[in-house]
Amino acid sequence: MTIGKRPSVLLRGYDEIRRLRRARQQPELEMTCVPVAPLLDETRLRLFPMLPRRLPAFFVIRGPLACVAFNADTREGAVFVHALLNHPAVPVEVFDLICRHELLHLVIAAREINGKLIDHPPEFFEKERAITPDRDAAWEWVWGHCWEVLRQDKKRESMVVKRGWRHQGRWWSADAGADSIVTTPPVTPRSF
Ligand SMILES: [Zn+2]
Repeated sequence: MTIGKRPSVLLRGYDEIRRLRRARQQPELEMTCVPVAPLLDETRLRLFPMLPRRLPAFFVIRGPLACVAFNADTREGAVFVHALLNHPAVPVEVFDLICRHELLHLVIAAREINGKLIDHPPEFFEKERAITPDRDAAWEWVWGHCWEVLRQDKKRESMVVKRGWRHQGRWWSADAGADSIVTTPPVTPRSF
């Protein structure tokens, strides 16, 4: 369905879902120094022993900065991390935060607050803070290195990676490295 030459919002939404599904079927080869899937499982066993099954972790070129997909019926799922973070310079604290945050979603469910379904209710962040001592440092690293290609989607409570992220960000430019100096970011986000 199109209106004039522009695809409808519905169609664009459907296209995006298809692209996301395709990206998830073709994950990237991991280039990090920290192997993320073993870290995710170690985190699960240590901090979330109530979760009985191992979850795989993949880097994909679409979707939010990080998220967990989980089927409550089959008890199967996976953590997807955006390929923006698929780089050897990303510190372990960032992946620690992602692993803890995503597994916490399987323990603290979204709930309605003032008539709105909230993925990250106050108790979620309270627990996340309690189990992630390096949380602020991890976010500062992510925002400090990647803020130019990130956008907070407050409505969806997620961190969106902008189009053209491979080319726009300082992080991916030829002279970028782990110690690149980055302009002070205007906001430090606090949620994936
Ligand atoms: Zn989240």
